[in-house]
Amino acid sequence: MTLPAPHGQLDLWLPPDAEVSLRFLGRAPAWSRVPLDRVTLRQRADELVAFGSPALRLRSLAIHVRRRVDVRLDPSGQHRGVSEATMHWALLLEPERTARALAAAAARSRFPPWTAELLDELARRDDVRRSLPSRRLMRLAPQGRFTDLRPLFQEGIGLLPELNGHSPLRIGWGRRPPAGPRRRAIRLGSARLTENSIVIHPALDDPGVPLWVTGQVVFHELCHFAAPPLDEVTASVAGEHRLHHRAFRALEERYPRLDDARRWIADNLTFLLSR
Ligand SMILES: [Zn+2]
Repeated sequence: MTLPAPHGQLDLWLPPDAEVSLRFLGRAPAWSRVPLDRVTLRQRADELVAFGSPALRLRSLAIHVRRRVDVRLDPSGQHRGVSEATMHWALLLEPERTARALAAAAARSRFPPWTAELLDELARRDDVRRSLPSRRLMRLAPQGRFTDLRPLFQEGIGLLPELNGHSPLRIGWGRRPPAGPRRRAIRLGSARLTENSIVIHPALDDPGVPLWVTGQVVFHELCHFAAPPLDEVTASVAGEHRLHHRAFRALEERYPRLDDARRWIADNLTFLLSR
């Protein structure tokens, strides 16, 4: 990752007796998972403010602990020459870079492109990921209208001794999407690695879908836990797909009717898309 060279001294500005009100949004249980205590967070926020620039006069800074690592500069205050910022707590791990991003956003009313890299980098840190609240999961119900996912799930786990010792996984049917324009693609399953859960598309919960097809989708998602994604550098050095890399595909081949299932899905795509 490349970052622009640090701004020169001239650009660093210590706001004169700046009074920035700092607010912490969210409830105590969510904050209890954040590895920095309040005092440290306040210090980091002070650092951030101290890195401000003439373009950025922060009036208030709201820190949240939601799932998404993001940062926002509220434009409403800007015509009065002051701004309000709302950001994920993880940004306080990088007060200087965050201050530069905010200053650029205040001056040009948009965040510089490298802000996305900063957010991405922070979102991937282990300590940040551990602090994220679990997605308010739709109750993960494995029993559908027609198909119970549990036997397929257990069969799949049985084929993957690599999962021995893995934290327990959960599986359930996804929500039925609201009726809308015809879909052009469908994601039959998704593996939520940070939540140890698998969600299967309800289009498969249909008596017309053979169990070995749904079983293959379940197995594919289980393989994502048994052969986790490569990091970007490893994948690009090895010329591998980050998710569906060689080790992943080798595991996936264990499914007895893999080819049949793939063919069935390809042949019945129109049906699945209409569900
Ligand atoms: Zn996949």
